[in-house]
Amino acid sequence: MRFALGAMTGHKDAMTPNPEPPLNESVEPMPAAQAAAPPAEAPLVPAILASRCPRCAKAPLFAGWVRFADRCRACGLDFSQFNVGDGPAAFLILIVGGLIVALALTLQLSVEPPFWVHILLWVPLTSLLVVYCLRLSKAALLILEYRNQAREGRIAPERTTAA
Ligand SMILES: [Zn+2]
Repeated sequence: MRFALGAMTGHKDAMTPNPEPPLNESVEPMPAAQAAAPPAEAPLVPAILASRCPRCAKAPLFAGWVRFADRCRACGLDFSQFNVGDGPAAFLILIVGGLIVALALTLQLSVEPPFWVHILLWVPLTSLLVVYCLRLSKAALLILEYRNQAREGRIAPERTTAA
């Protein structure tokens, strides 16, 4: 029985330091599975805006403008295990790109300003929006990956007949 429980909870050991409850007859399997989630999860939007470690919420996620730190300075959670891929860039192309083009067209068609006005307006505004939204979307994806325990697909280990 001990071997079977270890096989069922073993894959979560990397994320949770001590997930296995003491073995006695009153322990049911559900609390062990729920113990993998952080104890008191902050609401998602404030957590994204704060952009802090999804496990301890103490240290910042980012080491540069848009670059993740290697690991949490407070609790040591390894941020490099999360892969947010191209998702944030896709959001930015569709949302920020569409927004800036719509604003530039509106300004041109209504006021017809000289070209340098467009340069002065849209280059800084686009740069700021891209950096800010890239931080938010990268933080959002990393926090969601952590909370949902997202990982690459892998073959489930074969169940033994120990029980
Ligand atoms: Zn942390």
